[in-house]
Amino acid sequence: MRNYTLNSWKKDTKATKKPDYKSRMNGKLIIFSAPSGAGKTTIVKQLLERGLNLEFSISATSRTPRPNEVHGRDYYFISENEFKTRVSAGEFLEWEEVYSGICYGTLKSEVDRICSQGKNVIFDVDVVGGLNIKKHFGDRALAIFVQPPSVEELRIRLQNRQTETAEKIAMRVAKAEYEMTFAPQFDVIVVNQNLETAVNEAEKLVRDFIATA
Ligand code: 5GP
Repeated sequence: MRNYTLNSWKKDTKATKKPDYKSRMNGKLIIFSAPSGAGKTTIVKQLLERGLNLEFSISATSRTPRPNEVHGRDYYFISENEFKTRVSAGEFLEWEEVYSGICYGTLKSEVDRICSQGKNVIFDVDVVGGLNIKKHFGDRALAIFVQPPSVEELRIRLQNRQTETAEKIAMRVAKAEYEMTFAPQFDVIVVNQNLETAVNEAEKLVRDFIATA
């Protein structure tokens, strides 16, 4: 489902995935990835309240904010041009054109900002971005895949959210089917059948991981 309209630009900017970048401090990296609508954002928000010394990595995106979203809290909302400039400047740890014409990326400065405060970083990113971050940080990162009970359930959740048009929901569902195929590459899969159970399971995984040397 990935759309490659910006690919020629991407090929010119391989420097964004420099393998030599390491954040300066030693916090742990907790990665949450999932098909859209699987509940990962809700799980991430709840984990932030559970005393795990976590801070959210605020991604940059070229999409427009939804009602209730705040620049600098949910995302750094920037124009496509600014996004491209910052890709060329090597400011991203990873970035993806998650939807056609819409880019999302993790800024190296975010990881540094959080780790320099002695905190652990929690990411809410797409499956490809999540695996790239895991590859980059290895054992310092825990990559968790949040799986919806089924694709049909996912469609219902997206419809109930009422933030997207029918066309966009169809696009996200099709993409979700593709994204599910990445699940086995993650360190662990949490099935979000029941939100409270999934949050508790995720909390235990994160707590245990942070406690390891
Ligand atoms: P939404 O537009 O619904 O907020 O996010 C769409 C998708 O983009 C979600 O799967 C979200 O996790 C992903 N995403 C958000 N930030 C990043 C990022 O920094 N990098 C990547 N690769 N994906 C991201």
